[in-house]
Amino acid sequence: MCLPGARVYNVRMLAEILSVGTELLLGTTLNTNARYLAERLAEISVDVHRHVTVGDNPARLRAAFEEASRRADLIITTGGLGPTEDDVTMASFAAFAGLGLRRDPRTIGHITRQLARRGKQLTPLIERQSLVPVGARIFQNPVGTAPAVLARVRRRERTVHALLLPGPPREMRPLYRIARAHLVRLTPRSRRTVFVVRRIRITGPTEAEVASHVPDLLKLPPPLTVGIYAKPGEVELRAMCKARTRPAADRALSRIERDVRRRLGPAVYGTGESDLPAVVGELLHRSRMTLATAESCTGGLLSKLLTDVPGSSSYFLGGVVSYHDRIKRRFLGVPAALLKRHGAVSRQVALRMAAEARRRFGSDVAVAITGVAGPAGGSAIKPVGSVHIALADRRGARCELYRFTGNREDVRARAAHKALDLLRLRLLVQR
Ligand code: AMP
Ligand code: MG
Repeated sequence: MCLPGARVYNVRMLAEILSVGTELLLGTTLNTNARYLAERLAEISVDVHRHVTVGDNPARLRAAFEEASRRADLIITTGGLGPTEDDVTMASFAAFAGLGLRRDPRTIGHITRQLARRGKQLTPLIERQSLVPVGARIFQNPVGTAPAVLARVRRRERTVHALLLPGPPREMRPLYRIARAHLVRLTPRSRRTVFVVRRIRITGPTEAEVASHVPDLLKLPPPLTVGIYAKPGEVELRAMCKARTRPAADRALSRIERDVRRRLGPAVYGTGESDLPAVVGELLHRSRMTLATAESCTGGLLSKLLTDVPGSSSYFLGGVVSYHDRIKRRFLGVPAALLKRHGAVSRQVALRMAAEARRRFGSDVAVAITGVAGPAGGSAIKPVGSVHIALADRRGARCELYRFTGNREDVRARAAHKALDLLRLRLLVQR
């Protein structure tokens, strides 16, 4: 094995991600591999300085390797390791590195077994995937046939490492995880650091309002920095820490999180990967309460978001998409007179929908949404974006009127999101 472990770098490890595939250039396939790798490399403190995308063209790919090798210590490619003629990454890399390709018997064995599992036989075309650069480290593909390759190249007095990964994300990700420890070892132990990100998720205030509460945190210098990002319906503070060890980073991030929670109170709805429906679900589950919905303008979106969460059947009973007035009358018992007098988009109707959904489904809490999603149907007193959201529980029902902006999709998404947040705030005081 010609990979003598760690090479000493006097500076940080600089990496370049080289995405290979004509479909990426054409926009047919979204380059999710680059995003995944960029996030993972940050975690092991490898600095990604450039993302490059090239088509399935040997000459241009080789030139991209040449160019990257002038700047980067580590080049990671994805794609072009398949068995067909347009899969040229391995050959282009070998040509660039001046390495011969050899047929690897262990890889042939692995490919044969992988194919046998699917009842297929090795063909000369697939056997091409066992051609690997001489001296490279090989990682067998746990879910497919193309192996990943880690090779070392000497270039103008410098050492450059290249990791070649297959294109399909479901193959690329496990292979990256297998190769990860080897990438970590490329940096001398004394220089190794970890980079940990904590997402602090906020809903309610706007990005500017959140920023006005944490101006000092947003100016923190490395190694502990905080970024702010506005997303549909929420704002995220991303606390990022570079440290020698994971526990040290976690401690620093917990300090930031406590500080943010102190300043923003219940607007902070969670951290990490849990989104609002998951947090609401967790609150319902813990308080052993059940939920029902009655939706008009959101057409079931709220129920969809609630049921996206695995295990939601333990608290979500069901809902009615009472889009037409007849359904509001027949399935929710909203009186015709009420609909006539106040209109379907009204506080009175929303309150009735919520109370009736609660009664008819036998839930502890019910939420009702009725509004004007647009683009048509608005009026001077009920402009597009007017949405009533009502919440009924054992203490009674209450209703809020919102004026959401944006197109039909935005209004519906914001209404469903707001309904979830009202539920969350209600469940917080309950406990
Ligand atoms: P390849 O190994 O180049 O034949 O790629 C096989 C398949 O993997 C492609 O058809 C894409 O669907 C997918 N793929 C390749 N590169 C990427 C990428 N950068 N991001 C997401 N998917 C990719
Ligand atoms: Mg390809």
